[in-house]
Amino acid sequence: MKNISIIGSTGSIGTQSLDIVRANDDLNVVALAAGSNTVLLEKQAREFKPDIIGIWDEDKAKELRVALSEFDIRIVSGMDGLIEIATYVKADIVITAIVGMIGIRPTVEAIKAGKDIALANKETLVTAGHIIMPLAKEYNVRILPVDSEHSAIFQCLHGEEDNKISRLLITASGGPFRGKTRKELENVTVEDALKHPNWSMGNKITIDSATMVNKGLEVIEARWLFDVAPADIEVVVQPQSIIHSMVEFEDGAVKAQLGTPDMKLPIQYALYYPERRYLAGDRLDFTKMNGIIIDKPDIDVFKGLTFAYNSLEKGGSMPTVFNAANEKAVSLFLNRKIKFLEIYDIIENCMDNHEVIENPTLEEIINLQKETEKYIDKNFLNN
Ligand code: NDP
Repeated sequence: MKNISIIGSTGSIGTQSLDIVRANDDLNVVALAAGSNTVLLEKQAREFKPDIIGIWDEDKAKELRVALSEFDIRIVSGMDGLIEIATYVKADIVITAIVGMIGIRPTVEAIKAGKDIALANKETLVTAGHIIMPLAKEYNVRILPVDSEHSAIFQCLHGEEDNKISRLLITASGGPFRGKTRKELENVTVEDALKHPNWSMGNKITIDSATMVNKGLEVIEARWLFDVAPADIEVVVQPQSIIHSMVEFEDGAVKAQLGTPDMKLPIQYALYYPERRYLAGDRLDFTKMNGIIIDKPDIDVFKGLTFAYNSLEKGGSMPTVFNAANEKAVSLFLNRKIKFLEIYDIIENCMDNHEVIENPTLEEIINLQKETEKYIDKNFLNN
């Protein structure tokens, strides 16, 4: 039996992780945490009967204590609650399905508590990869990628531990605005940006896909997960989302992982690694495919990639500023306070005005997020 704790159980990755648990008798949920969706969290608690659940807001935790009073479930709140969920003694593995930099502290504490991490929360590695990866080594825990591209690379690297990688080829769908010009993007709406052609995901990552910031974050994530130099990480557009990513080795051989776009596969692979299990769902039918399309990304219009490579080149705290500025800008866009292209303006301005801190500590990273948010409020909002 494998005991699982999920932080972010009510979101896209969280609910799909629970689908995997439903389909497998040897997986058991011991702890769950969500942000504000008490209705779904209560439902999940009734179904999976974990020992402990967490909700961000203490008032909501009080509501849940009443609603779930017939169960013996401990209900916690806030950051302390999230950390309790992430470090729960009975958990073997923690799925970090929470969105944003708020995932950093629970992930760090889970590692220190010796938990393997099924990592979806890419913002944690982007901003604190230099802390997380050595920490995981020190505590002998595994960081198992859930992001489909990184899972693909991870699958390609299985059995290749002693072989030299010459390039990682990360695939991108291109998002809903692939092929559009900057002019055409001037007045796109939140609804337009949320229409991802292939994947159904949470709002923040869907906007990140539309700007291609998501791919930028993934380049940084790959740099930490696989210890490959940024110059050896290339992004190619694969609009069908069938090739999930590729690895080129020094002899020129390229290995790819293919499949229908379904996040359950990488989630399940992380939970059972290195074993494969049956997974229900569509299979690829190569005879019905009209060729496999591979394209170059348009980095002039979709500047997310350029920002990511620049932030890696500057190093230190710059990826934190790239990520923090993006988190804030995306939330402003989703709340209809700024236009789509202003996401790029905000990120660029924050990065241009940041003086790099070498090797930032966790505290510095977390403070930098607050400072970046304040800077954006002051310089981009007229309130
Ligand atoms: P969603 O927005 O769908 O879900 C986010 C989850 O985090 C929800 O359960 C939410 O709770 C919870 N949450 C938010 N704030 C808090 C908080 N303060 N305390 C506790 N829980 C909180 O996001 P996704 O599932 O799409 O993405 C999650 C992460 O996985 C992101 O980092 C994303 O980049 C990454 N990822 C996602 C993929 C996907 O297919 N969705 C693919 C690859 C990576 P509530 O519902 O109550 O707000």
